[in-house]
Amino acid sequence: MRKLEDAYLHKGLRRQLVQLLQEKGITDEKVLSAIGNIPRHFFLDSAFDKIAYEDRAFPIAANQTISQPYTVAYQTQLLQIKKGEKVLEIGTGSMYQTTVLAEMGARVFTIERQKQLFDQTSKYIFKENYPDIQFFFGDGFEGLPHLAPFDKILITAAAPSIPEKLWEQLKVRGQMVIPVDESETAQRMLRLTKKRDGSAKKESFDEFSFVPMLQGKTHK
Ligand code: SAH
Repeated sequence: MRKLEDAYLHKGLRRQLVQLLQEKGITDEKVLSAIGNIPRHFFLDSAFDKIAYEDRAFPIAANQTISQPYTVAYQTQLLQIKKGEKVLEIGTGSMYQTTVLAEMGARVFTIERQKQLFDQTSKYIFKENYPDIQFFFGDGFEGLPHLAPFDKILITAAAPSIPEKLWEQLKVRGQMVIPVDESETAQRMLRLTKKRDGSAKKESFDEFSFVPMLQGKTHK
């Protein structure tokens, strides 16, 4: 197994990354401190060790990506996480975003459709730090009806539209942060707040580019 070391160099690069995120407009201190605390290079192949703190997405297994730190910070800031909240994440991927949510005190339930990525969750390096994270192999479009309702729902892949079943699994006054396709290559970041009558208050934010949210699960 590769030796995991959070060296002085990594800590310095992480501080610079946090500063860059601030310059780019991330203001939530709790989000910044979570990113400052979590060694992102642990979630990447060792080949990326020296560049792990660049504000870029990188390839992970199964042709997927670890989201860009700015995107992780942006989505997390929109979620306004409070300690103890039940958060459903769609798209576990590298587990980095999952870890940011857990570090902020959320009770995280996360779903991945790629078996190869899901299998890596059994070797999650921070299991002892965040024992309450629950990992699921499945289709995020279905959500986790038996564990609903959730305070917050985060979608970390490009959604064709608002998945109806996920909307049903959100609490009243709960919030969903979701990048929804606007063109072939870009998604609009939306924050939807569930009103008492079940309808949505919709807020629109910047454009991003995510890997697609796909139907079903896969063992390939
Ligand atoms: N949060 C991840 C982002 C990974 S990219 C990270 O920080 O690393 C998006 C992930 O969503 C991919 O791993 C992809 O396989 C997964 N995904 C796409 N459609 C999905 C679906 N319907 N259900 C669950 N996961 C899905």
